Amino acid sequence: MMRIDVLTLFPEMFDGVFGASILGKAKDKGIVSLEAINFREYSNNKHNTVDDYPYGGGGGMVLKAEPVFGAVEDLMAKKEGGSRPRVILMCPQGETFTQKKAEELAKEEHLVLICGHYEGYDERIREYLVTDELSIGDYVLTGGEIPAMTVIDSVVRLLPGVLGNESSAVTDSYSTGLLEYPHYTRPAVFRDWEVPEVLISGNHAKIEAWRREQSLLRTLRRRPDLLEKAELTDKERKWLATQEQNQTT
Ligand code: SAM
Repeated sequence: MMRIDVLTLFPEMFDGVFGASILGKAKDKGIVSLEAINFREYSNNKHNTVDDYPYGGGGGMVLKAEPVFGAVEDLMAKKEGGSRPRVILMCPQGETFTQKKAEELAKEEHLVLICGHYEGYDERIREYLVTDELSIGDYVLTGGEIPAMTVIDSVVRLLPGVLGNESSAVTDSYSTGLLEYPHYTRPAVFRDWEVPEVLISGNHAKIEAWRREQSLLRTLRRRPDLLEKAELTDKERKWLATQEQNQTT
């Protein structure tokens, strides 16, 4: 079973996310254990403070090193054997989180995610405690809880047995290096808008070919940067070049 612990000052924020839908079911099935731990319990001072003024002055409060180190070290001490956990700091200055990173983290036994608040962290947390720093994008939120939920959700859905239809994670956008093809469901005609004929042809080879083509086209139009690293055949690269030319003419 994979284990994920989140260190936060607001564990109640995780109640809904950990208890509902696919994450809730993964927990019930025993595929993952999800815990939100309030690291204020490790503050070691009589007022239970976890933040302090920055050395050198300036605005904003800084998360102290002691409670965060205390919480992570306690988790490690309680753990019976196994490898050291990946200790991940949620932070807008970190590596941008991607599907590839989610796939990498889904292979781990134990993740510990640290959620900040306030202006920043004591730099010694970054330097001496964490193994990874992750950002969910180039914008700033009030705290690391929503970013941590994002990472956890995308990692847990990759664990074997979590998704009903296992193939859906394999064809998802980014898993293949491309954006996913368009989907349609019944009715075949809705307000005069028809489903592409090939999809109701019953010809699986043609459907596969259409989907691949749509996936390539969609990636070309929306995220051409992804095509540089995607695994494409020579034929596909040539075909894309003609599509690109059509776009510009
Ligand atoms: N002063 C910090 C800076 O400029 O890098 C921003 C602090 S932010 C207000 C407070 C906390 O929210 C961060 O410590 C981090 O845990 C979380 N956070 C905010 N934006 C994030 C993002 N894009 N990705 C991951 N975590 C984020």
